[in-house]
Amino acid sequence: MKHFYPDYVQQFRCIAAACPDSCCQGWDVVIDEETEAAYTKVKGAFGERLRQAVITDSDGDRVFRLAEAKKCPFWGADRLCEIYKTLGEDHLCRTCALFPRLTMDYTVFTEHTLALACPEAARLILASDNALAAFDDTECDACEAYDAETMRLLLRARRRAAAILTAEQPLSERLDALTRFAREVQATLTGFTEEIEEDSILELYKTMDYIDEHNRARFIRAAEKPPGNPKDEKGLTKLALYWLYRYFLTAIDGLDLLSPVRFLTASVRLVSRLAAEDGDLTKAAQLYSKEIEQSYENMALFGLS
Ligand code: SF4
Repeated sequence: MKHFYPDYVQQFRCIAAACPDSCCQGWDVVIDEETEAAYTKVKGAFGERLRQAVITDSDGDRVFRLAEAKKCPFWGADRLCEIYKTLGEDHLCRTCALFPRLTMDYTVFTEHTLALACPEAARLILASDNALAAFDDTECDACEAYDAETMRLLLRARRRAAAILTAEQPLSERLDALTRFAREVQATLTGFTEEIEEDSILELYKTMDYIDEHNRARFIRAAEKPPGNPKDEKGLTKLALYWLYRYFLTAIDGLDLLSPVRFLTASVRLVSRLAAEDGDLTKAAQLYSKEIEQSYENMALFGLS
């Protein structure tokens, strides 16, 4: 198995109490079976607190009952994790131990990345130049999980897509060129293709789930704004490449290339408009990812769950 790492994965360290928007707030924390079993052995008042905190949610997952403002009940006033401080790192559930590290496992090779929803990951992703050079060498050997020739076609198409996204052209033209290219590749994959309607995609933001309802109005306002000229095309190009490498190869399952490209182009356009409000692209990208990309339901609207 070959592993490919962009440089920001190696550089990542959680900044814990210094984090401006901790992953300990806003989300359900799913507790895996092994961790819950370990909690049954923790003695004393802290063990009792742990066991009392785990409930079953409406999806049937075992999760921590969140405190006010959707905070993890073990997120202390010092903004540090009480479980980590009291019991050590090996008592963290899998969700917390891994976040924001992500692996895209394609059976014969694995690509690693970070979730943009983590502020420190977002900072590193946008600070890094040529972060994805390692992925250029990605190749595919034969395997039983999928047709290796189709994966090779997708890998070649991804390299071409990366070249389109980094061409010397205004960003909007590059995104349009990527859409046209994706439609061609889709036709090669399945013998048919379809239009990607950007306007109808922007309508999607009205129907999405939001952790913070204030963000619904903010996202709709951004979606309804006329395009304008983005200020930080270099940063937006990095985001486009980040989403290209994160989602393009998902087309190996179901042969749907238009969904990841639709998500990429819509996301770059929306983040660009969000960032135009205060000029902070990193914050806009992190917020977008936390609200949209980390939501199973929202990603399903893009055909990507
Ligand atoms: S969001 Fe990232 S930096 Fe912040 S606490 Fe979580 S892992 Fe650490």
